[in-house]
Amino acid sequence: MTPAKMNVRFLDLRVLDAHERGELTAVFDTMLLHGRIVLGPEVQRLEEQVAARCGRRYAVGVSSGTDALMLALKSLDIGPGDEVITTPLSWLATANAVAVVGATPIFADIGDDLNIDPASIEPLVNSRTKAILPVHYTGKVCRMPELTSIARRHDLHVVEDAAQAFDSEQDGRKAGSFGVLGCFSMNPMKIFAACGEAGMIVTDRQDLYDRLVSLRYHGTMQRETCVELAWNGRMDTLQAGVLSARLPRLDAIIEARARIADRYRRGLGTVVDCPVEGASARDVHYTFTIQAERRDELKAYLEERGVETKIQHPLLVPDQPVYAARPAAACPNARRLVSRILCIPAHEKLPDEQVDFVIGCVREFYAVQGTR
Ligand SMILES: *Cc1c(COP(=O)(O)O)cnc(C)c1O
Repeated sequence: MTPAKMNVRFLDLRVLDAHERGELTAVFDTMLLHGRIVLGPEVQRLEEQVAARCGRRYAVGVSSGTDALMLALKSLDIGPGDEVITTPLSWLATANAVAVVGATPIFADIGDDLNIDPASIEPLVNSRTKAILPVHYTGKVCRMPELTSIARRHDLHVVEDAAQAFDSEQDGRKAGSFGVLGCFSMNPMKIFAACGEAGMIVTDRQDLYDRLVSLRYHGTMQRETCVELAWNGRMDTLQAGVLSARLPRLDAIIEARARIADRYRRGLGTVVDCPVEGASARDVHYTFTIQAERRDELKAYLEERGVETKIQHPLLVPDQPVYAARPAAACPNARRLVSRILCIPAHEKLPDEQVDFVIGCVREFYAVQGTR
């Protein structure tokens, strides 16, 4: 029998390992000694590491994933009058980045994998369409061959929102390496996490790299002459140092999450819909998002038993009040799925007994008897 109650955290951002804490505080110490607090040498080092890891020529460190998206769009001259096709199921940052640079987000539909459905994109393309902005949601790479061929057919840019998918793969290629630009967030919730806000843009194109370096500091040349309007989106030295210090542990984090995901699939696969990992994919499991009947009741039940869960996200982006004035997006599949999704705890520090407790609770909720 599963115990009545156990506190299971959704995320645990504490660093309890003293050795790891020592490595992180050493980053601060090093920075204090060289004194280059913003865009210090640690930023360049991280840019090289991230570019190499993603299989891209260039990386540009910026102050957040949101900034990465806005600067990426600006570097492609996307702005007023332009449309960008994206997914209705994402964190607000994706569509807001489009809207804040003055363009219009157009919402396609999603598939059962919760990612943008390529078939729903083409009917939305018109002469104003400039780009497709897919989100590798939950850390699962979108169907990139189909997306890139649609983009090629209509001469559109593909900008990847890979904020949740650092180090995810499809057919041996990393998230962020498919589009003309790939954008990452390294905020503390993400799998490759800083101790504050941070983001990164990757590309193979030198012209875009040069422009992004200028754009991230008010569109300046030699940090003095302003040639186009932008804002301050530079990366902190400290965050870059923290990320480099954490990079060697990334594989272990991803493996631990994969093991937890497998444990959930074995325990829950017959009870709820669990995320499926494609045959030629490596998902980093940013979240483990199940699709469940009576989702709200299940969430309340798990809460009673001490299990913290999240709905990412309860409201589709086109249904946010800020987009209410626009014609409603159709996206029937997204509307169906948004009432079924639930993220259950799956972070790398979760002990097996807690995973098993969550499995037991979900099975008891649906009153499924039997062995596992
Ligand atoms: C986290 C996230 C962002 C934004 O990143 P920040 O660093 O928080 O600005 C953008 N898109 C998606 C899909 C995200 O999950």
